[in-house]
Amino acid sequence: MSECLIVGGGVIGMMSARTLSIAGADVTLLEQRKCARESSWAGGGIISPLYPWRYSDLVNELSIASQAVYKDLCAALLEDTGIDPEYIQSGLLMMDEYNAPKAQRWMDKYNLNFQIHPRGALFTNIAQVRNPRLLSALQTDIIRRGVKIIEHTKANELIKKNSVVIGVKTQNKDYYADNVIVCGGAWSADLLDNNKIFPVKGQMIVIKAQIGTIKHIVLDQGRYIIPRKDGKILVGSTMEDVGFDRRIDKQVGQDLLTFTIERFPQLKDSAIQHHWAGFRPASKTDVIIGKHAKLAHLYINTGHFRNGLNMAPASAEKILKQINAN
Ligand SMILES: Cc1cc2nc3c(=O)[nH]c(=O)nc-3n(C[C@H](O)[C@H](O)[C@H](O)COP(=O)(O)OP(=O)(O)OC[C@H]3O[C@@H](n4cnc5c(N)ncnc54)[C@H](O)[C@@H]3O)c2cc1C
Repeated sequence: MSECLIVGGGVIGMMSARTLSIAGADVTLLEQRKCARESSWAGGGIISPLYPWRYSDLVNELSIASQAVYKDLCAALLEDTGIDPEYIQSGLLMMDEYNAPKAQRWMDKYNLNFQIHPRGALFTNIAQVRNPRLLSALQTDIIRRGVKIIEHTKANELIKKNSVVIGVKTQNKDYYADNVIVCGGAWSADLLDNNKIFPVKGQMIVIKAQIGTIKHIVLDQGRYIIPRKDGKILVGSTMEDVGFDRRIDKQVGQDLLTFTIERFPQLKDSAIQHHWAGFRPASKTDVIIGKHAKLAHLYINTGHFRNGLNMAPASAEKILKQINAN
């Protein structure tokens, strides 16, 4: 297979690198900072859209296809790298919205048989991963497979010959390849020179509790509580259209803590251990996966918004199919 140059070292870039490399491509990945530090690190790692009926068929199809492979993927990564992405089928309790007509239509359409939990919530048997660990395993795995990762190197500009993309310019040198795949998350618009992709900031906190204090992920009023294997509990998140402003707001952290204590009063003495923000790659259209409309040998894999962890495996497969078809 061909030489592929991937721009972006988040979950989408690294999962694409893995898939292309397994298919026999010679892959180089450029990352402007360090891999696995942006949205993919900041996210909750829930392997499902939160209220799936709010999303397009494409998002749902990519999610369902990814959910089908995640468990085996994480087991393979653990075996090959020794790093456990902590895939846990913790299930999710959805406290609101599931009775709405559009939710019912969605369940009928996808033929999903959910249970109503005794607490008056919808129980869905979905999984979570510990995303920093998934990323660390992915990075180790792709290096092992021969992917060349070049960090602190920003792709500043596409190199074109007529309407064919042949590489990218960076501050150090020019990189050439048969195919360029832009997986730049919320920053993708810069390189593509379009305004379809933009950042939506999300703030999140983590608190520590006894292992097993909370069994399932809880989703209520757009906010969620995620119990990790070691007792840590993540709570998120905000949706802020404020550009690339990394500042966190202490009041937001307190609100997320209050939200958690209201639902789990036994956590009333908990303190926030860490509070952070990340930039989801939002799209004015939908998730964008495929060939560029005008420039040959340029591919895009971005706009995953709130569902990038969850859609990454199927998105990578889709890019591979598109490259193979050309
Ligand atoms: C608070 C929060 C909670 C979330 N929770 C979940 C969840 O539970 N489940 C889920 O599925 N999703 C969740 N998400 C969304 C998910 O994190 C994103 O959809 C996903 O991480 C996007 O992955 P990415 O690789 O496209 O972006 P990123 O992880 O942001 O990676 C893009 C990378 O490209 C690099 N880059 C950009 N431009 C260039 C360039 N020109 N040259 C070189 N490098 C470049 C960037 O530095 C960055 O490292 C959440 C997001 C946030 C913020």
